[in-house]
Amino acid sequence: MNSTDFSSLALSPELLSVVQELGYEELTPIQAASIPLLLDGKDIIGQSKTGSGKTAAFSLPILNKLDLSNQNIQALVICPTRELATQVVGEIRKLGRRHVGLKVLPLIGGQTGREQAQSLEKGVHIAVGTPGRILDHMNRERIDLSDLATVIFDEADKMLEMGFEKELRAIMKDVPAKRQTALFSATFPEAIQSLSRRYQRNPMQIIVAEPE
Ligand code: ADP
Ligand code: MG
Repeated sequence: MNSTDFSSLALSPELLSVVQELGYEELTPIQAASIPLLLDGKDIIGQSKTGSGKTAAFSLPILNKLDLSNQNIQALVICPTRELATQVVGEIRKLGRRHVGLKVLPLIGGQTGREQAQSLEKGVHIAVGTPGRILDHMNRERIDLSDLATVIFDEADKMLEMGFEKELRAIMKDVPAKRQTALFSATFPEAIQSLSRRYQRNPMQIIVAEPE
């Protein structure tokens, strides 16, 4: 059984104070199971219901290992929609409020690509976006992914349902082989398993069952 206590995790004192300030009293089950593995550099597949705290489950480990003095993208979070990407950006900024100078950039449609390109030029630690827009910046050589250490597929089943498989393939063709990859999905059809086989290394699967 995992401890539900945040202080049982090997997180920095800054991050532990932030979660305390935010009033998070206990780890949710998906957080208790996935954060230690992610801190250990493992690949994971996470499945739990909406609202169970998956964003913090992947964001805390990303923030914990972030090197703020390196202005290159170190983590890429891929989300199915602009709305979800915007929510994830908000949550990462909230959890990263003690990270002075932290730059989290949304790469989504509905905003000009040029503004995003300027921000990319100035330096970004964590990019969060939708597949089409991420790929667009990559194709225009606006993104340096040479220091990318972590890739997150958030709501992977929804991304496949929306037909983003081709974009995901193209993005993953150009990310460093030496990286950590976490995949979150509400369901596990064969298409998700094959996505996992293609991009993950010995992933641990974490399933938080819903109470009957
Ligand atoms: P999911 O991605 O699983 O649907 P979210 O990551 O969006 O869920 O989290 C839902 C809400 O729960 C967010 O408002 C988040 O700030 C809050 N939250 C996350 N972790 C905790 C926690 N350990 N304790 C209390 N609230 C939390
Ligand atoms: Mg989510």
